[in-house]
Amino acid sequence: MSAAVPTPVPFLDLAREYETVASELEAAVLEVLRSQAYVLGPAAARFEEEVASFLGVEHAIGVSSGSDAVLLALAALDVGPGDQVVTTPFTFFATVSAITRLGAQPVFADISAADFLLDPVAVASVVTDRTRVIMPVQLYGQCVDPDVFDAIGRTNRIAIIEDAAQAIGARRGRFGAGAFGDLGCFSFYPTKNLAACGEAGLVTTADDRLASRVRLLRDHGSERRYEHLEVGWNARLDGVQAAALSVKLRHLGDWNAARIALAARYGALFREAGLDSVLTLPLVAPDATHVFHQYVIRAPRRDDLQAHLGEQGVGSAIHYPRPLHLQPCFESLGYRAGDFPEAERAAAEVLALPIFPQLRPDEQDRVVRAIASFYD
Ligand SMILES: *Cc1c(COP(=O)(O)O)cnc(C)c1O
Repeated sequence: MSAAVPTPVPFLDLAREYETVASELEAAVLEVLRSQAYVLGPAAARFEEEVASFLGVEHAIGVSSGSDAVLLALAALDVGPGDQVVTTPFTFFATVSAITRLGAQPVFADISAADFLLDPVAVASVVTDRTRVIMPVQLYGQCVDPDVFDAIGRTNRIAIIEDAAQAIGARRGRFGAGAFGDLGCFSFYPTKNLAACGEAGLVTTADDRLASRVRLLRDHGSERRYEHLEVGWNARLDGVQAAALSVKLRHLGDWNAARIALAARYGALFREAGLDSVLTLPLVAPDATHVFHQYVIRAPRRDDLQAHLGEQGVGSAIHYPRPLHLQPCFESLGYRAGDFPEAERAAAEVLALPIFPQLRPDEQDRVVRAIASFYD
């Protein structure tokens, strides 16, 4: 008998999540279809209330995507030409494109080697009198230290916007993700921990004035039909997505707990296999809840390892292979290779392994065995 080809271990399998909520989800979506309340409407109002309470925030404003959430948060603070926004070069593109789309200037600061998050010491060194906003990214499902960033913001009278697109349910110290900055931004893109059945996002804030401003901007600057107080755009949340998100929000606590358990098990398996001295495993700060949107290791000979995993049918991904200061579209910012050594080193070394709530232990075992066979 020839050796059986093992079934692949997927990097992410959305079908498994769907199976666990299919009947609830289909009933909720059908209700919206029958009501014809396709845009905002009662489903969106309900979701906004539920997610505000889950996050422990005063205001939650449902919007069309995470990308629009970041754009709205910056626009609500009147960020525009002449302003600088300090952020990380090691993030998803939308964090930074929102800044340039408003005519403002992104100013990068390097990340910390230990957790891949914006380094507050590096941030402090690039703050100028033109800095309007500091935007840390809660990368991979973990949060920056809120007290440290709060102190930098207060001292310099600079607003903080959290790009918490990857971190719903994460905590650090006294704060949940999206609850310590002046504004917080979330994405419900289908691969995120809380996933819509399409595109959706959220802006959070404790400030009544900023909340009204975001509500206004997401709907063409209009509170009453055909009266436009300012120029916004269409960034509304749709009803079907809101209804789906309300269903899934009820499971998010369990799903995040499953991710945390899988991460702990990866750690145990890697230590058992003696791989903890070869790989750099993710670190969790002592006062933190890391919700493992991604389980990211640093690996020697990363590209060869990824090719090897591919041959073994094990999915993996690189978030992100090219830091944003080296993207062709941001060339005019004037940065060069070597400017942010930690971001560049991370781009060359990181590998994200399969982690999603329905990943099975036997699949995890196969991931670890496939990695072990590469370094043998
Ligand atoms: C996903 C993501 C976004 C954008 O969200 P979309 O819903 O895809 O527009 C922004 N920032 C970060 C860090 C993300 O991971």
